[in-house]
Amino acid sequence: MQRVYLDHAATSWPKPKAVIDAVTQAMCAPWSNAGRGTHAFSRAAGRAVYRARQEVASYFGTQTVHDVLFTASATAAVNMVLFGAIAPGDHVLCTMAQHNAVWRPLAVLAAQRAVAVDHVPMPLDGTFEHDVWARMMRPHTKWIVVNHASNVLGTIAPLKDIVAFARAHGVQTIVDAAQTVGHIPIDVATLGVDALAWSGHKALCGPLGTGGVCVAPTLSFSPHIFGGTGTASESEHQPHVRPDGYEAGSANVPAIVGLGTAIRSMRDCDRTRERRCIDEAVRRLNRLAGARVLGPPAGVARVPLVSFVCRDVDSAHIAHELDAKYGIAVRAGLHCAPLAHKQAHTLQGGAVRLSVGVTTTEEELDYALDAIVRIVGGR
Ligand code: PMP
Repeated sequence: MQRVYLDHAATSWPKPKAVIDAVTQAMCAPWSNAGRGTHAFSRAAGRAVYRARQEVASYFGTQTVHDVLFTASATAAVNMVLFGAIAPGDHVLCTMAQHNAVWRPLAVLAAQRAVAVDHVPMPLDGTFEHDVWARMMRPHTKWIVVNHASNVLGTIAPLKDIVAFARAHGVQTIVDAAQTVGHIPIDVATLGVDALAWSGHKALCGPLGTGGVCVAPTLSFSPHIFGGTGTASESEHQPHVRPDGYEAGSANVPAIVGLGTAIRSMRDCDRTRERRCIDEAVRRLNRLAGARVLGPPAGVARVPLVSFVCRDVDSAHIAHELDAKYGIAVRAGLHCAPLAHKQAHTLQGGAVRLSVGVTTTEEELDYALDAIVRIVGGR
């Protein structure tokens, strides 16, 4: 059976050969634990991690190499910043359609630190509604937490407007860029965000278990995980030195090296086919009787994913049939983002999401859309 992978929003597959080679080489080379010793094995691993950090810093335009902190995922990166930065009693404005990576830590902060959280409605086409934002500000609003693009709706947030609004009000901005990194160029210093969390394993095509956060040098926040760093070992206190103090525990050297290679090889990659493919999917799904396409109206930019529901046909059933009968991987359900489904009125039953990547071809997408028509129409 043909196999088609349309779940790139969860993680990209297949990974570029250069990335696989880099990971393999990092595991075979005489490299050990980075930052854990003065011997040649450790020094070589440390240099490899530094080169990868330079690659990431240059990609995101951070002010210094040390403004890049590696984590195992966007989720870990978001947690690091939210728990490290948000103080008791702070008020946080965050956008609708947040992923659980943001929603749940904020719920914990609300319970543990009496942090107040309000959700700003976000139009499906990503328009910035200044008056709505202004009305929701409070005297103790300290943070705006933004989902750069929804992993369910595909809507791209008006990040420049939001950051300008935040700055004008003396509020700091934390961005979850899990779904935009690799698709939309992001220069953190020019944009003026205070922290930007990202996944390395989605559109950047790095190994699974990679991600990180780019922080502004002015952002003051405490480490969230405590332990070994190889720095200030005599003290019982975690050093607040970047990056060491914020990357407690042994670094995943092969994965980080693979991520550096992924960024190098994806930087100038032409991604127009992904946009063409998803536009075509939106067009065809819009024509499908009984189907409702979620997200921005046709013609408005979106990240290369599309979710849809079909009247009378369960989303989980469509995903299961696609997998079992046609070898097509898509994702059904709530996609860890119930707020987006609430906005789309699909909390009951969820939706089917197709997400494409650099390796997706027009033929694969045609095959998947034909299969959907057969599953939905053939009942
Ligand atoms: N935020 C958003 C918007 C996402 O789509 C995802 C992945 N589904 C995450 C955060 C979590 O990313 P990671 O898998 O790297 O933790």
